Amino acid sequence: MTPDEPLDLDLDKLVRDGVLTRDDARALQHSQQSDTDGAMRLEALPSGENKDAVKEDATKHKRHWVRTTRLCNQRCTFCLDSMNQDGTMIDFESLKAYILLGKRMGRERLILSGGEASVHPKFIELIRYGRQVGYEWIQTITNGMMFSYTKFAKACADAGLNEATVSMHGHTAQIHDKLTGTPGAFVTGIKGMQNLMATGKVVVNIDVVLNKQNYKVLPEVLDFYYNMGIREFDLLHIIPFGRGFDEHRHSLFFDLNDAVPYFRRAFQLANRPGVYLWTNRLPVMYLEGFERLIQDPHKLLSEFDGGRHNFEGWLRKGMKPDCHGERCDYCFLDGPCRQTMFPFREQLEAGTLAEVRIDAQHVWQGTEARAKFEAQKPERVWLAARTAQDALGAMDHLPFAGSKLAIELDPGADPAPLAVRAIERYVVHTIDDAQRYLATVPAAATIEVRLTQELATWLLAQPDLPAERLVATLQDHAYMSESQAIDPSPAVLAQLAHKGVRLKNVPRCVAGAPVEPGEHLTLDAKMLDGAGALDLDRYVASFIGHEYAAKSLRCGRCAEFEHCRGAHINYLRSHGFAILTPLDEDGRPLADAASFEHLTEQLKAQAALRSKRDQQRLHGLHKPVATQEP
Ligand code: SF4
Ligand code: SF4
Repeated sequence: MTPDEPLDLDLDKLVRDGVLTRDDARALQHSQQSDTDGAMRLEALPSGENKDAVKEDATKHKRHWVRTTRLCNQRCTFCLDSMNQDGTMIDFESLKAYILLGKRMGRERLILSGGEASVHPKFIELIRYGRQVGYEWIQTITNGMMFSYTKFAKACADAGLNEATVSMHGHTAQIHDKLTGTPGAFVTGIKGMQNLMATGKVVVNIDVVLNKQNYKVLPEVLDFYYNMGIREFDLLHIIPFGRGFDEHRHSLFFDLNDAVPYFRRAFQLANRPGVYLWTNRLPVMYLEGFERLIQDPHKLLSEFDGGRHNFEGWLRKGMKPDCHGERCDYCFLDGPCRQTMFPFREQLEAGTLAEVRIDAQHVWQGTEARAKFEAQKPERVWLAARTAQDALGAMDHLPFAGSKLAIELDPGADPAPLAVRAIERYVVHTIDDAQRYLATVPAAATIEVRLTQELATWLLAQPDLPAERLVATLQDHAYMSESQAIDPSPAVLAQLAHKGVRLKNVPRCVAGAPVEPGEHLTLDAKMLDGAGALDLDRYVASFIGHEYAAKSLRCGRCAEFEHCRGAHINYLRSHGFAILTPLDEDGRPLADAASFEHLTEQLKAQAALRSKRDQQRLHGLHKPVATQEP
């Protein structure tokens, strides 16, 4: 197949032929929605560059993953893919078609994976073909063993391989061979890395699966590979799928609380010039002090893509995912999945969502979507409109009698015509609008200011601010760079609260005063598909942008703990967990608020609370749904 040949691919056939899994095919159909531009490469950057910007850009690369085999020459105890491995190879022509498909879709980076990708008999030809069709960067994920053959490593480099991510889980044969279930894996893996590095053409980095067998030596593991010349490390937290959970749960899963001191020593490596450390699926509260290592929230898009049929089964039909059950307690997706997506759908179906949002210009996907939206009995309706006239027109068709109404007009629009209606609050985004609304809208209405640094400064400079009429909301942002560019600092937020302005979406400990909680499980009409179900991609995007909050491990002792969702992840990535200070019953910071002592007790308390809430939710409020255990 030549790069110019017309490509008329039938994704269903690719699935039947074994080129793609069903999930891969679905992910492919949807992946363009999560791809954005960006071409900066880690390996091209000098040390000393802004690592945050580099990492954020790296998450935007357009990647095309191609599975070449369903077999492996190792038998890792933690393997996630064990259920998919049947000892087969994907045929060469199918692989070429899939590689070409990715290029036609505009993907820049080709990633050859498996099983073990390099045992495919046409592996070198696949690299060459990827180069021929025009990929900018060709990477493989590998255990490194095949590259211990010097000629093979050189041939791969000459064919155009740019990067090899080698899975190495220990710094000794004793640890690595045991974890990989393969005597000799350590020695051959190291030899493979050395051969690839010796070509001078291939960037070599490593993946480490964090587990009970290696977490105590993680600092030594990273040092070992750093001394070999490795500068990029991806630390993957063990997750409850595949062989690792089914067969080796007790020897692999560990209490993250025990690992904190070892992790903190290991993470220091990230401070060295030119070193890039990534974490993968590691619960964020364990990264206090190392917030820049928190995984970009957009990774959730691909995580949900990977299990699309499972999650859509829940959203569309109320069928719990195959994996639901005892795995959930160990699962990195628990927050967006069980803790948020499950109750979101349950409340949507029951018509009990407390807040809904709609744009006056909204075009319904279908009558079922409209019916589902209008079946809610919200406490508050958010209506966005370009002008007051548009808002008035839309209000006549809103069915929510008795709900509070919040209006958000385009910047610069005149709100005066709305004075005849009972409106609970107005949302403003600019200084000009804040001034105008304060002067024109009825005094009974609240003015909700969506904070920016400029707006916060302006509010603080007003000598006669009618603070009782205002709510100042800390905005959520999908990207950390947006938070850094726009959001006021914690100190400024505290000054606003001190001036009497009620803050929203800010933890009480940051405000130093009572606060209004941020929005949670707000149904935007845009999130509904034609059948009236939550659209998975829009749900995940909404979670990243608005729901992804976190607290410190230290929060377990805070009197606000049960009611507080913490702060949005990107605000914490920008300012650190240290801004959170546990409070006593009177709202005063605890004397030892910064202390990590008694952490184990705190975590147990948090787990018990969460478990209690889950049980109430799953067995009390809602009918149990039959689970489908694997
Ligand atoms: S159902 Fe449970 S195990 Fe499956 S993705 Fe959701 S939280 Fe994880
Ligand atoms: S629970 Fe945590 S984030 Fe919330 S107020 Fe207390 S210390 Fe702050």
